[in-house]
Amino acid sequence: SLSDLSVVTLCARLRDRQDAPYAYVIAMGAGPGGDEQLAALDAGADDVLPRPLDPCTLRLRLRAAEHIVALHNDFRESRQALTYKSTHDALTGTWNRGEVLGILEREVARSRREGWQVAVIMVDVDRFKSVNDTYGHLMGDAALREISTRLIGSLRPYDIIGRYGGEEFLVVLGGCSPRNARALAERLRETVASEPVRVAEVEVTVTISMGVAAWEPNEYGDIQALLRAADVALYEAKRAGRN
Ligand code: GH3
Ligand code: MG
Ligand code: MG
Repeated sequence: SLSDLSVVTLCARLRDRQDAPYAYVIAMGAGPGGDEQLAALDAGADDVLPRPLDPCTLRLRLRAAEHIVALHNDFRESRQALTYKSTHDALTGTWNRGEVLGILEREVARSRREGWQVAVIMVDVDRFKSVNDTYGHLMGDAALREISTRLIGSLRPYDIIGRYGGEEFLVVLGGCSPRNARALAERLRETVASEPVRVAEVEVTVTISMGVAAWEPNEYGDIQALLRAADVALYEAKRAGRN
């Protein structure tokens, strides 16, 4: 019967599914109108039909259902697109600043619970102003895209990278020791410096400098302290000759 717990449960499960295509639910009840039909609608059914089922009515209701499903799916797609736009950097497709900082915050909380280490790498492109000045802003943009692609290619799938500022990226490494973070930073340096960036006949060699900072388990402070330490190390790398 419609007031069956299973109908309620089924509807609740269907409505709980995040980002799944919309499931249009037509509940069929014993008789015309009444409490059972109402209970099904309250549980999340879109429509109710009395038994015995009239094939002609069902055909019409299904046609109407198609319109609703199409609307729901349009809505879901726009919501997904908006979510992507609000969390990612438009130029490089990496996480945006707000998002990468939020991820770092969560990563630190998780590591504190699990007793893991957390490391960050602050990346800054060297003498990037002169790339823009020499080759133009479009070339600068293309170089930033290429650099981020190379950085992503050198990270593990579960590492996080976000655009921290104009020509700065922040890499968040959960469960990574200071030693491994340093080794990874060296790989990042190598992947950017080893081959010039090519854009429409133009080749330009770019390098990056980085600051690595890490916490041992039980050593955590607030993330601002970690970012400051990475920034100090980055400044040191710049002062020591960049790349
Ligand atoms: P340093 O080695 O000390 O980091 O030198 P730098 O020239 O990279 O440092 P500075 O901070 O003076 O300049 C950063 C430049 O990055 C200035 C800015 O025009 C450029 N930049 C920032 N964001 C973008 C962007 O989205 N596209 C392009 N093309 N350039 C950008
Ligand atoms: Mg900078
Ligand atoms: Mg720079």
